[in-house]
Amino acid sequence: MKIHNFSAGPCILPQDVFQQASKAVLDFNGLSILEISHRSKDFVAVMEKAQSLALEHLGLINKGYKALFLGGGASMQFLMTAYNLLEKKAAYLNTGTWSDKAIKEAKAFGEVVEVGSSKEANYNYIPKDYQIPTDADYFHITSNNTIFGTQLKEIPQVNIPLVCDMSSDIFSRQLDFTQFDLIYAGAQKNMGPAGATLVVVKEDILGKVSRHIPSMLNYQTQISKDSMFNTPPVFPIYVSMLTLEWLKSNGGIDAIENINNKKASLIYSEIDRNDLFKGFAAVEDRSNMNATFSLNNDSHKELFDNLCKEANISGLNGHRSVGGYRASMYNALPLESVEVLVNVMKELENRA
Ligand code: PMP
Repeated sequence: MKIHNFSAGPCILPQDVFQQASKAVLDFNGLSILEISHRSKDFVAVMEKAQSLALEHLGLINKGYKALFLGGGASMQFLMTAYNLLEKKAAYLNTGTWSDKAIKEAKAFGEVVEVGSSKEANYNYIPKDYQIPTDADYFHITSNNTIFGTQLKEIPQVNIPLVCDMSSDIFSRQLDFTQFDLIYAGAQKNMGPAGATLVVVKEDILGKVSRHIPSMLNYQTQISKDSMFNTPPVFPIYVSMLTLEWLKSNGGIDAIENINNKKASLIYSEIDRNDLFKGFAAVEDRSNMNATFSLNNDSHKELFDNLCKEANISGLNGHRSVGGYRASMYNALPLESVEVLVNVMKELENRA
């Protein structure tokens, strides 16, 4: 039975990746991938491949960046970015729950200037006119707001280091990634299973704060030990490597972006055309990864939910802070799954 998995994360990954990953659990050069040493030459090769593929996809090879695979999730990066980069003052754009959490963590380390926020509108848009203090140590943004379904279409141009939480849209669209000084992303959307977090950092922004940074939380320690200061999340890194290989063999970010655009325009056209539905996010800020929408009339909920179930649609419930529905359309979700969902929305219109 084919299930159309619209889950926001952990989420769908390519079937090919599941197949290869399950094989490696049973036999990875004679042993299980789950029982090998992270210092074995086979795993060191996996780590190096995962790091180089991540940099290659982002166009950041030989540009002064390092790729790290760390534990602790993206939430740990809320803390680590501030620990490593915030000396006096940092600027943050508050575009959702995850930005808000990053801001909370940073406040333990210095002054935090919230340059803009859409909190008063339950984050249904991206603030546009704001001033960034030129004396801030860095500016932190969240490129895609998973819960609210908004996405920064324009990356702000700044003269200070730019830090980006790219957890829910990394590897989904082409950008000039050299404009970022630090990118982090939990693996569990476009890259792999939960448990690994990718950090891509420009080395020359490090080593500028005066505080002592505990070894595990210090990017420089992690760089000097090649993400192996302690035992790294071996299996999530292996699966991330497989997904990055899958992306490469499918034409890389350019090709996947094309499909992602088609999926997004299909669902948003239906939300706009079908009078039974309305979108949550401001039209110009709509995310290509997470489409948030609701029914105009709750009396249609039971029928819509049943139709979704019959069509094997899974993971469509909205986050509790928004309600309604959320169709997450990460890289591995086929266009066909969005077609199935759109047909169900049309069917509801016929039957309601
Ligand atoms: N940032 C964003 C944009 C997210 O979507 C999430 C999780 N969904 C997080 C941060 C937190 O990630 P984690 O659970 O890996 O700490």
